[in-house]
Amino acid sequence: MASQHQPDYDVIAVGAGFAGLGLIHYIREAGLSIRVFDKASDIGGTWTWNRYPGAATDSEGYYYCLTFSKEILQEWRWSQRYPGWEETLGYMHFLADKCDLWPHIQLNTEISSAEYQEDSGQWLVTTGSGEQFTCKYFISAMGMISQPYIPEIKGVDSFKGPCFHSSRWPQEGLDYAGKRVGIIGSGATTVQMLPVMAETAAEVTVFQRTPNFVMPAVQQPMTDEWEKDIKENYDEIIAKCRNHVFGMAFDSPVGRNLADTPADEVQKIFEEHWPRGSFRFVFETFDDLLSNADSNKAAADFIAGKIKEKVKDPEVAELLTPKGYPLFAKRPPLDHGFYEAFNRDNVKLVDINQREPLVEITETGIRTTENHYEFDIIVLATGFQAYTGAQEALGIRGRNGILLKDKWESVSASIMGVCVAEFPNLFMITGPQAPFANLPTSIEQNIMYITDCIRKMESEGYDICVPSQAAEDAWVAHTAEIHEQTLMAQGDKVHSWMMGANIEHKKPRVLIYFGGANVYYDKLRESADGGFPELAFERMAG
Ligand code: NAP
Repeated sequence: MASQHQPDYDVIAVGAGFAGLGLIHYIREAGLSIRVFDKASDIGGTWTWNRYPGAATDSEGYYYCLTFSKEILQEWRWSQRYPGWEETLGYMHFLADKCDLWPHIQLNTEISSAEYQEDSGQWLVTTGSGEQFTCKYFISAMGMISQPYIPEIKGVDSFKGPCFHSSRWPQEGLDYAGKRVGIIGSGATTVQMLPVMAETAAEVTVFQRTPNFVMPAVQQPMTDEWEKDIKENYDEIIAKCRNHVFGMAFDSPVGRNLADTPADEVQKIFEEHWPRGSFRFVFETFDDLLSNADSNKAAADFIAGKIKEKVKDPEVAELLTPKGYPLFAKRPPLDHGFYEAFNRDNVKLVDINQREPLVEITETGIRTTENHYEFDIIVLATGFQAYTGAQEALGIRGRNGILLKDKWESVSASIMGVCVAEFPNLFMITGPQAPFANLPTSIEQNIMYITDCIRKMESEGYDICVPSQAAEDAWVAHTAEIHEQTLMAQGDKVHSWMMGANIEHKKPRVLIYFGGANVYYDKLRESADGGFPELAFERMAG
């Protein structure tokens, strides 16, 4: 360890996914030292943990990437529209190799606490094995959707076979061919996993509480022609992402509201866009689907009709059809054969919402109020403690020893999802009350903001930046006001993780800034250009 005045590193970050990797590049460009710790045995974050069958991006791969190196954008070749986890992880390795990021990364190292030291203005970071490091800036690069959530299910530890959370899929792989598999949960993870597992498993049974609006992904191979077009237009693609409400390279707003469009024209537009795949169905059809309840209902009804077309058994189709909540109040998954999988003889759907609620996991399977189902493998695809879970799990203490977890007990407050009052020199990449968008776009915008702030501090000789309580209160109020105006606010009715409503015993809350990712990126830029008015910069005495 260095002296009290000279920290071991300028920056310590936790998480070697997109956020940690991008941060190394930008911080190194600023001439500062950085160490990125990750408890995993590889870089990749989401893409090293989520190795379940079928795991793939829901963003189209060519803009699900970091953009600081034009050379890498030109050199890397995606094989398909939605790359699988192996391919995205391969891209991240390529990036780490090309940019020589490895010397700054320490894997297999869990950070157990990070404490702000009032006397030095530095952070003291402690690893699980008790090693300690100091830094001037402590940055959470732990990801928005990384902390697994396993609900309280009686007997969860009693099953004799493999039983694990979907994001803890055995790294060495798991042979499920010819086995009976039970999956609890029917969110985006299960939507991807089911069709792949059903191909070789003896049977797969999905225990569903709430059905989702699942839209077609439409996987496509990357052709030479398509790749050429992308690579010739990367600047435009990056600009599109930067200027889009969802951070994606979409042609929207389209300048057309469903509310003003004749009904037959609406159906024609929906039909035309449905086979194109991706979230484009929401963003490239009409501009009012997420703000006007009637327009949203028309889109929801259209999707319900498609479910009935795809699923042969009308009773199963009915169970799979969402009811009583608007499209996007839960994050809609993308379909790679999910609905069609229910037409197979070896796939079953169990409604644990009304017909037969879950009772317990037993030594040999899952018991509902009506039946006992025998399995060889149980997958808990039960979601994540999104936005706050990873930071709360790590003992982050700010001024006067305040624990971040305690501060967030009732309101997960922040300034633009990046800073937190009472936590000087702490930054988060996509923390609570940042938007939900194409993640690499948001991550890079956050990193640029943070790096600009750090550059200012270093060039002007500041020791601490103190996030203003008034600025935090203003952001919390602004985010809540916008939230209330959106249809997403109804997510609390259906356990949406976007409001933390999936976590039992926790009050639903405003976790996301829904004012548009592009508007948010503008706000970050305005703040940086204006000298970061939300932060007070101080020099230590002596
Ligand atoms: P999720 O969407 O939160 O789904 C969790 C599932 O577990 C839900 O079906 C939920 O039912 C069920 N569940 C939770 N607690 C339960 C309980 N106590 N009893 C019964 N059922 C319970 O989680 P996920 O599928 O892992 O996806 C989470 C997010 O990760 C996605 O929305 C997405 O943003 C991201 N993700 C992205 C990709 C991608 O981009 N390729 C892939 C996978 C995941 P309820 O719905 O009733 O709560």
